Amino acid sequence: NNYQNVALVVGVTGIVGNSLAEILPLSDTPGGPWKVYGVARRPQPTWNADHPIHYIQCDVTDPNQTRDKLSKLSDITHIFYVTWTNKPTELENCDSNGRMLKNVLEAVIPHAPNLQHVCLQTGLKHYIGSFEFLGKVRPHETPFHEDLPRLVTPNFYYTQEDILMAEVEKKEGLTWSVHRPGLIFGFSPYSLMNVISGLCAYAAMCKHEDKPLKFLGTRAAWDSSWDASDADLIAEHQIWAAVDPNAKNQAFNCSNGDIIKWKHMWKVLAEQFDVEYEEFEDDDGDGDSRLRLVEEMKDKSEVWDEIVRQNGLVPTKFEDVGCWWFVVAHFGYSDTEKIESMNKSKEHGFVGFRNSKTSFIYWIDKLKANKIVP
Ligand code: NAD
Repeated sequence: NNYQNVALVVGVTGIVGNSLAEILPLSDTPGGPWKVYGVARRPQPTWNADHPIHYIQCDVTDPNQTRDKLSKLSDITHIFYVTWTNKPTELENCDSNGRMLKNVLEAVIPHAPNLQHVCLQTGLKHYIGSFEFLGKVRPHETPFHEDLPRLVTPNFYYTQEDILMAEVEKKEGLTWSVHRPGLIFGFSPYSLMNVISGLCAYAAMCKHEDKPLKFLGTRAAWDSSWDASDADLIAEHQIWAAVDPNAKNQAFNCSNGDIIKWKHMWKVLAEQFDVEYEEFEDDDGDGDSRLRLVEEMKDKSEVWDEIVRQNGLVPTKFEDVGCWWFVVAHFGYSDTEKIESMNKSKEHGFVGFRNSKTSFIYWIDKLKANKIVP
C-alpha cells in the first residue's frame, strides 16, 4: 500500500490514543487512510488489537529504548503525542513529562525526512494550574481562551510546549499544534484519567450492593456548569490540525462546544446502570459523607473482581478502570465553572462538536459492549 501519511501515535492505548488508532486508518479520514504506528508501554490489550495499526511496545521514559525502536521508522510524517506520566509533585512532572516528549522528538525528527507536523495534547489545566497547585494559585477566569498568559507556577504543559517549540525549530518546515481538552469522555480502560470508566465502575458497585447512586462530589460540582471533550472529537481536532494549513503553529482549546451539569448527568448514569438515583443532599454540610464514600471506595478491588467474575467481563484491575483518585479530584472542586472557548478553533476552520449527553452515553455503551463494565 502507498500511504500518503504515516502517523506515530504515542500513547496508543490511552483515552485519545485509542480513538486515533480507530479513526486514522479509515478511508474517509482527512489525509487518509493513514498508516499508523502506535506506541504504548504495556503489551497490546485485546480491546486495542482490532485496529489496523503497527503496535510498538516501548517505554518512552527510556531514551535508549526510544531511540532503538522509533528512529528506524523513517516514513513517519506526523506525530500525535497523547501520553503523560503522573508524579507526586509538579516539578517532577515537568522533569519526567519533558524528558518523555524530548526522547520521542529526538528519536524521530532527525531520522524521518518526511516529518511534517507534531500534535501535542495538553489540557485545560493550562489555565487553572496543575493538580498540585489547584486552589493554591489563582486560576484564570472562565471562559478560557488560548491567548491568556501562563500562570506563574510550574506546569508540565508549559515545559512540554517549550520543548516542542525548541525541537521543531531543528527541522525546516516542521510545524506543531497544541490541543487543550477539558474533561475527556472516552473508552480506554488503561487511561490514568477516565471519568467515564470510573463512574461506570462506581455505578456497577452501587447496583451490585443494591445501594442508591449517591453523588460523589461537592455542592459546587453538582450545581455548576462544565464542559467535556469527546475523545473521538479530540482525535478529529488533531487530525484537522495535522493536515490543514490554517492550523499550524497554534494552540487550540478542544471541547464539545456545549455545557453539562453533573446533576443532569447523574440521572443519565443511574439510568444506564438501572440503579436508584439520588439527589444531592447537604446532610452535615461539610462534605463528610462524600469523604466517607471516598474512603469506602478505596478498598473495593475485591468487589470489582467479583463483579468482573459474575458478569463475565474482561479481567481488569479496579485501580485501572475505577480511576478513583481522578474521580475524587474531579468532583472535589469547590469553585465554579471551567469552560473553554471554542471560538479560535472555529475561526481557524474546525467546526466539529459533540452533544455531551449523547457522548456520555456513547462511551458508556462502548465500555459495556467491550465487556469492560456490566
Ligand atoms: P492516557 O492516560 O489516557 O493514556 C496514556 C497512554 O500512554 C497509554 O497508552 C499508556 O500506555 C501510554 N504510556 C504511559 N506511559 C508510557 C511510557 N512511559 N511509554 C510509552 N507509553 C506510555 O492519556 P491522556 O489522558 O490522553 O493524557 C494525555 C494528555 O492529556 C495529558 O497531558 C493529560 O493531562 C491531558 N488531559 C487528559 C484529560 C483526561 O480526562 N484524561 C483531560 C484533559 C487533559
